[in-house]
Amino acid sequence: MIEAQEVVRSTCPYCGVGCQIDMYIKEDQIFRVEAPFDVAPNFGRLCAKGRFGIDFVQHPSRLKKPLIRKDIGESPRKAVGLEGFREATWEEALDLAAEKLAAIVAQHGGDAVGTFCSAKATNEDNYIFQKLVRGVLGTNNVDHCARLCHAASVAGLQLTIGSSAMSNSIAEMKDLDAFIVTGSNTTETHPVISTFLREAVVRNGAKLAVIDPRQIEMTEFADHWLRQKPGTDVAIFQAMAHVIVHEELYNSDFIDDRTEGFGEYAKSLADCTPEWAEGLSGVPADQIRDAARMYANAERAAIYWGMGISQSVHGTDNAVSLANLALITGHIGKPGTGLNPLRGQNNVQGCSDSGGLPNVFPGYQLVNDPDIRGKFENDWGIQLNPDVGLTTMEMVDAAEQGGIKAYFVMGENPMMSEPDLRHARHVMASLEFVLLQDIFFNETAEYADIILPATSFAEKAGTFTNSDRRVQLIRPAVPAPGEARDDWVILSELAQRLETELGREESAGFEFDDPSAIWDEMARLTPDFQGISHARLQREDGVHWPCPSEDHPGTPYLFEDDFPSGRGRLTPLDYRPSAELPNDEYPFILSTGRVLYHWHGGTMTRRSKLEDIYPEPTVEVHPNDAENLGIAAGDWIKVRSRRGEIQVRTLVTERSPTGTVFIPFHFAEAAANELTLDARDPQAKIPDYKMSAVALEKLN
Ligand code: SF4
Repeated sequence: MIEAQEVVRSTCPYCGVGCQIDMYIKEDQIFRVEAPFDVAPNFGRLCAKGRFGIDFVQHPSRLKKPLIRKDIGESPRKAVGLEGFREATWEEALDLAAEKLAAIVAQHGGDAVGTFCSAKATNEDNYIFQKLVRGVLGTNNVDHCARLCHAASVAGLQLTIGSSAMSNSIAEMKDLDAFIVTGSNTTETHPVISTFLREAVVRNGAKLAVIDPRQIEMTEFADHWLRQKPGTDVAIFQAMAHVIVHEELYNSDFIDDRTEGFGEYAKSLADCTPEWAEGLSGVPADQIRDAARMYANAERAAIYWGMGISQSVHGTDNAVSLANLALITGHIGKPGTGLNPLRGQNNVQGCSDSGGLPNVFPGYQLVNDPDIRGKFENDWGIQLNPDVGLTTMEMVDAAEQGGIKAYFVMGENPMMSEPDLRHARHVMASLEFVLLQDIFFNETAEYADIILPATSFAEKAGTFTNSDRRVQLIRPAVPAPGEARDDWVILSELAQRLETELGREESAGFEFDDPSAIWDEMARLTPDFQGISHARLQREDGVHWPCPSEDHPGTPYLFEDDFPSGRGRLTPLDYRPSAELPNDEYPFILSTGRVLYHWHGGTMTRRSKLEDIYPEPTVEVHPNDAENLGIAAGDWIKVRSRRGEIQVRTLVTERSPTGTVFIPFHFAEAAANELTLDARDPQAKIPDYKMSAVALEKLN
């Protein structure tokens, strides 16, 4: 038994559950990870990634020195491996990065730069990032991967209640009376949350309705499993609302006191009968009635959803229709209720909270509100751009059209996460300058001019905010590899060089002693964070925002008295078909997503022990389809779409329905996004990763 020299408490760097972990350290190596039993949100529970997937921190391929592309300046830009770069000093790399970015800003303006901050980096890193983008580059073109996972949830909830965060806490889950899980393979994507949800069913008798085309593990615990055809979710939710209105199962008091538009909304549901929804979705009308009654009749009921319904061309409509259900039943604003989009990455909530979005400063304060902007201008001592910036996908479009000349990417890998990767590569090749800041050389790094090596979560201090708005500390446990530096340190140094290059007489202020000072500045400017500090988090383990003052306990559930928008807005919807449907040439529907043992583009998990458990790209094929195509389990097959093709190993399973295949998006050698289309939700601009038409071909 190895004896630890030190045990360091921190927060898991993978998913939005935000599990607390104890890292056991000896000779500067993490050799074991455990979970403390007495601390929220996980109370001793961890999944495979948290327990066994942390060894990526010690992987020999960590970036250790700044790198500069050998053929920098050559056009068009080509993808090159590590051998296409040379090592540089920090001085040279930062000076050159500042010179290149400043030249583009001077010639074309700040809006010619597109920037991506990171849902894996800390709140403090992201605060400094958006401050550099807004306060030095002079643009609001800052976005991050939330655009590609829950932008539709954000848009839908903003439209209906004026807030997009998960409304209730993880701690309330085990005491639910009834709940709906839709578009979330919770046991694999948020494993520890799934244990609390299953506990609610098994120990406490909660009723569960799963609405999902795949036979995910949660269906084993469900009273009702509504297996809709992919892309028909809105019809199901509308029909459930129809049942609730038609059978008068709604909460009149709540509707009168807290909502608006009920009359028009109720009228709009007249034709949305369960039989209508059955015709579109294939789900028997009585199953829809049963699920609606279960939800409406419960004392307290909550809805949980994931990317399965948000990554869709009707993602906003999905979120709006779920909000409508909560508003007519009054299942919001109390413990054990609520609207709960389960956030993906460890700090995707915090990255949005810290201003990593093109339309808002930290705390969702609008950049185009003169009073709000004035507050930031006074504090930073500079003038700010009043125009809302571009979203991730709009930046890709602008780059293609020549409006964006440079990308600055921190801790993201768009060359794995963008839809239609062939198109994304074409756009990347056309840029004048690409600056990357990361912990590994990834697919996006192949297109970079300068790569700045950053520290991982295990080597730095700061905070992550988990899916239920709980702000928690991370703490340094091991030394940084080579010359890697903390993101906020790199950004501060780059910002100051940029200010010099751009001839700024006043600095926006980038001299911080440590991440707690950065948090204090953000909290000073953000009412919801004003009661939280690093010192308080040392004492209390975690605090849910909103927390407006030091003596405020934090807010585990939202909307007790009102919504940020005042009344909840009941919103009529029209059902729309999907952007791409199967045909004779591409007869299967492709859905993409995660598996338990890997994470997003695989940059971290594929450099951990977990790679031994799940080392190959796979495709789920239903036995009927496999038989028709002469495919056996384990066969390598080609999957083709109108955009590209990949080769994957077949899993023959009834998990995906006939006519639908599922491919995890973690494998660069068979990137699922070679196949996906970039059709987008019109409001949220989120691409549809769940509904592309593909063909399967057996390989000899
Ligand atoms: Fe980490 Fe999420 Fe697993 Fe918890 S459930 S250990 S936060 S990956």
